[in-house]
Amino acid sequence: MRANITLLAALGTAAAIQPAISQKGPQRPNIIYIMSDDHAYQAISAYGHQIGRIAPTPGIDRIASNGMRFTRCLVTNSISGPCRAVVLTGKYSHLNGFAKNEGQAPFDGSQQTFPKILQAAGYTTAIIGKWHLGSDPTGFDHWEVLPGQGHYYNPEFIDRNGRHTENGYVTELITDKSLKWISGAKASGKPFMLMMHHKAPHREWQPGPRELTLYKDVKFPEPATLFDDYSGRGRAAREQDMTISKTMRIEEDLKLYKDKGKMKNTGLNRMDAGQMEEWNKTYDPIIREFYESGLTGDELVRYKYQRYMQDYLACIAAVDKSVGQLLDYLRSNGLDKNTIVIYASDQGFYLGEHGWFDKRFMFEESYRTPLLIQWPGVVKAGSVNSDIVSNLDFAETILDMAGVSVPADMQGRSMVPVLKGKTPADWRKEHYYHYYEYPAVHSVKRHYGISTERYKLMHFYYDIDEWELYDLKTDPMEMKNVYNDPSYATVRKDLHERLEKLRVQFRDTDESLKSFLPAVK
Ligand code: CA
Repeated sequence: MRANITLLAALGTAAAIQPAISQKGPQRPNIIYIMSDDHAYQAISAYGHQIGRIAPTPGIDRIASNGMRFTRCLVTNSISGPCRAVVLTGKYSHLNGFAKNEGQAPFDGSQQTFPKILQAAGYTTAIIGKWHLGSDPTGFDHWEVLPGQGHYYNPEFIDRNGRHTENGYVTELITDKSLKWISGAKASGKPFMLMMHHKAPHREWQPGPRELTLYKDVKFPEPATLFDDYSGRGRAAREQDMTISKTMRIEEDLKLYKDKGKMKNTGLNRMDAGQMEEWNKTYDPIIREFYESGLTGDELVRYKYQRYMQDYLACIAAVDKSVGQLLDYLRSNGLDKNTIVIYASDQGFYLGEHGWFDKRFMFEESYRTPLLIQWPGVVKAGSVNSDIVSNLDFAETILDMAGVSVPADMQGRSMVPVLKGKTPADWRKEHYYHYYEYPAVHSVKRHYGISTERYKLMHFYYDIDEWELYDLKTDPMEMKNVYNDPSYATVRKDLHERLEKLRVQFRDTDESLKSFLPAVK
């Protein structure tokens, strides 16, 4: 595939507007990239996890049955803004300049991004929904985004004309706006690319008016590691601040408000009278029951986990409905045959594994993101792929899908051959990770590392200088650091060598860190 990319690059812009060789006929495909925020693969029924089975996602599962489901899509830096910057640029954080959510200069929109390249190649482009990169979007014919994290109820949107507030639930508003834009794009006759970015199911997991009661009486299975004591691992796992037991707030996170005045802390005061009435009808009895119960200790943790899941999964139900609605829309408007639909989250999320919520760590639940792609006539329906792919590959893949040459300075690789069921022999066997946001909310220490199919080596470098090694085959839940286990000496040496090679390959060496780190402080 690399040769093909080089060839296309050599042909320059003339090649850039040629149809992809894989396409039947001259028509270039439309591309819809749907991205939710903090959607764990454990919460998608197509992934077969116990949570997904109780809270099914039939809309998203349609993409899996129409196309390909990826079981090992890894992110390069498990946090919102940085993931979005990687998707746009196909470059690691230290090169696209956006390494952290907080204390970070806005995304430099003057740099090369895949939407800009598509635009130059004749595509109509748009982004609707969450943006979270500080600066105004560039490379889009149309953009309408949430300021910062955005709100669930009656949110503000920003577009070229400034800010305005809309009445409704954010997931439904983003869906309506997206369908309306697609309708206009179809009429233009040009191929289109839409980034449809949901805010949901981000904290504080506020369910929509139509899903308020969906899971309120459902009991979800607890993860085996809900009461993890972090023995067998280093300081990073012990010293984080993202546990359900200590970090998760009874009022703001679980909506068990003793003082309804606090609803303003999470934007719930934005609800109008009718929305508030429905909300209170659902939550008031839950609140009453909770404070009467006097739960403490492990029982309180168990209860918090259930409330967390009930709200989180209700938020996902609205996203899932949106996906179903979009697929129906494409079909009834004759767009389904020539439109690629991609579903991903910005990163993974902990649903109580290790006692946690949130993300950031290179442990599997937050390192892996769901990825499902349907591409009629190209991707075999119902296929499953376990190659190591990455959000670093998304820009390259989308350009390749559109038949546009991939710039040589992008650091990922087009997944198009993988999607065709022909993974190249030299496809990556290891993946490089780097997280920077510390000290910061949730106190996850800075680390970089390498993951192969079986092993993971992490270096919590700057703050504590500790190494950790995990064997995913013998220890899939990542409970035991075997870095100092003599029986892993050979594996450890091999991983160190491969990690150093990756750091050189991606230009993220100790030397470059010295100049980059002060810039992201
Ligand atoms: Ca996120």
